[in-house]
Amino acid sequence: IKKIAVFTSGGDAPGMNAAVRAVVRTASYHNLEAFGIYRGYEGMIDGRIKPIAARDVGNIIQRGGTILKTARSMRFKTPEGRKQAYENLKEAGIDALVAIGGDGTFTGAQVFSQEYNIPIVGLPGTIDNDIYGTDYTIGFDTAINTAIEAVDKIRDTADSHSRLFFVEVMGRHSGYIALHTGIGSGAGCIFLPEYDTPLDELVDVLKKANDRDKMFNMVIVAEGNRSGNAMEIANRLNEKYDGYESKVTILGHMQRGGAPSCRDRVLASRLGYHAIEVLLKGESNVALGIINDELCLTPFQEAISQAKKPKSSMLEMARILSM
Ligand code: ATP
Repeated sequence: IKKIAVFTSGGDAPGMNAAVRAVVRTASYHNLEAFGIYRGYEGMIDGRIKPIAARDVGNIIQRGGTILKTARSMRFKTPEGRKQAYENLKEAGIDALVAIGGDGTFTGAQVFSQEYNIPIVGLPGTIDNDIYGTDYTIGFDTAINTAIEAVDKIRDTADSHSRLFFVEVMGRHSGYIALHTGIGSGAGCIFLPEYDTPLDELVDVLKKANDRDKMFNMVIVAEGNRSGNAMEIANRLNEKYDGYESKVTILGHMQRGGAPSCRDRVLASRLGYHAIEVLLKGESNVALGIINDELCLTPFQEAISQAKKPKSSMLEMARILSM
């Protein structure tokens, strides 16, 4: 391997830049030429492949988003698009790839690696933490810290006005952000996509809170919650039971931005460093992760076919702690 290219794809996540920096600097240490592909698979098809030197990645470890930009590419889902991408890589002399992204990015990498002979390693970069083969994904820690900071602020208003607040957090079909934000902010109730939380359970929490003169409550709802989003639950509560007037806040994209937490920077640095190390050892078509503080390699096929979900015991614990 002489020339490697790195790209970010799918949703941006804080810490992606720290990963890019680690990939480029480790490549440079091993005398490899590094290239950045701008705008993910879309840029691969358009030939946006540029050399990127160790000094080019200075002053980015602390920045959110991705300096390489990202995209969702429909064209890469077609054989013609992937053929064009491969031809561009060959023309630039690229002989290995580091893909930073989520499930979709790994699926694209898996499909590509079956059609063309080019080693690829994947780094889990998504705030959702929904990737199998790693305890945490790059960006998750920052996102939950952003979310609890916001919930803490809303709590001040909830407390002052004795109000019930529903806060909807991101995560798509995954409940990790909601579970951690709920526990970390001491929410009264948490709604996740993976487990059912009946409305009656929320009513029970509210009644008990009322009995002990707690006049405000925070409820965290995952955007992909199976029984409806925050607005829908708030409306159902209002229709079914009198006296529970509530406010709804949707945190939205603020959860994806901002400077990465130290934990995300360290995770991204470790994974970016190991991406080059494992490519040089001849590994390919694997996703890298850290499990129990150890580097872990998972074939793309396994990483994309296995589901990862929050432990039900954590939700049970949250219920007990909110009493
Ligand atoms: P996030 O979890 O943050 O959304 P992601 O990596 O899952 O990140 P996607 O948009 O799902 O984001 O996937 C990124 C890109 O991977 C897609 O836009 C597409 O170009 C490529 N991709 C996804 N699935 C496939 C597939 N089956 N075949 C080829 N390419 C794919």
